[in-house]
Amino acid sequence: MARGAPGDPGVPPVLPVTVELRRVRLPLVRPMVAAHGVERDRDVVLVAATLADGSVGWGECSTLGRPTYTGEWTEAAWWVLRDELAPAALAGRASGVVGHPMASASVSTAVLDARLRSVSVNLAASLGAEPGRAVPSTAVSGVQPSVDDLLRGVAADLAAGHRSVKCKIRPGWDVEPLAAVRSAWPDLALAADANGAYARDDLDRLVSLDRLGLLYLEQPFAPDQLLLSAELVRSAGTPVALDESVTSAATVDVVVALGAAGVLSIKPARLGGIAEAVRVAELAVAHGLGAFVGGMLETGVGRAAALAVAALPGCDLPTDLGPSSRYFTDDVTERFALDDGTLAVPTGPGIGVAPDADRLDAATVDHLVLTR
Ligand code: MG
Repeated sequence: MARGAPGDPGVPPVLPVTVELRRVRLPLVRPMVAAHGVERDRDVVLVAATLADGSVGWGECSTLGRPTYTGEWTEAAWWVLRDELAPAALAGRASGVVGHPMASASVSTAVLDARLRSVSVNLAASLGAEPGRAVPSTAVSGVQPSVDDLLRGVAADLAAGHRSVKCKIRPGWDVEPLAAVRSAWPDLALAADANGAYARDDLDRLVSLDRLGLLYLEQPFAPDQLLLSAELVRSAGTPVALDESVTSAATVDVVVALGAAGVLSIKPARLGGIAEAVRVAELAVAHGLGAFVGGMLETGVGRAAALAVAALPGCDLPTDLGPSSRYFTDDVTERFALDDGTLAVPTGPGIGVAPDADRLDAATVDHLVLTR
């Protein structure tokens, strides 16, 4: 990355002397049910990069346990981190790896975090965002066993301080549950996320959601169905958001050219790292698109890095990154708490948090240290 380029933290590049891989498993407080499957725990790889001066930085590979959300999954990520990405980072060379953006992001973020800590610079500040900024957070509600369960869950989310709610939808669980929430809370900022579960035959059904006044409808079609998404943008009044489709700044250029979305979900992990996420946020501003930072059920490590991006200008819609307590009983870092419907962006050096040694050890199921 060129100095002064978007996402460049303005500190000199330094190679790590060790890269440590920690595969951790944390049970989720409640299963997350979406169109792509059910997540009961988080099985992710945390990466620690240590510099010669002793500075340690952290990154998270936020893959799911199976390749159902994107093509990455944790077992494969462990291999590619061990055999390709960590050795390349230690040698200071390009990895040559095609794909695997979440694994790549974990290494680049760990090294960036270490570099920033070594000079006591906060990540958000280095990106031109505001450390400490209060970022509005939306509650994400998975597919529920019944509409009554959904309404009880939304009521609990609002009681916990959330000011907006996003409901996962899929064929068979869409108009009725969303209409029930809208009826119960006529003024609620309400969005829906389909995780790519719909097809061309569903266009009319999706347009019918217009009457519910949604903030946006996220990823109605498969990630590569950009022409179909553009067709929905032209037909529907509800803003269409793209999430799984947003894999690079170059892809966003195509989305813009096609008019395939009005809103972008920015996920630093899926975009391959912080720098590409910053570029996408800048494109959102340049083209007048709404944007928010999406969540990957991150531990505190990934949550902290993503929150720095969520504080950037242009990320003006509520982030999916919720409070830690919504996902984990015992996170590996200090917990992120909801305050008046918002999450505070960490202010300390680097990403601003680090795993607690005891909690990290308790969650670790595999462990490897690579040296230069
Ligand atoms: Mg999504």
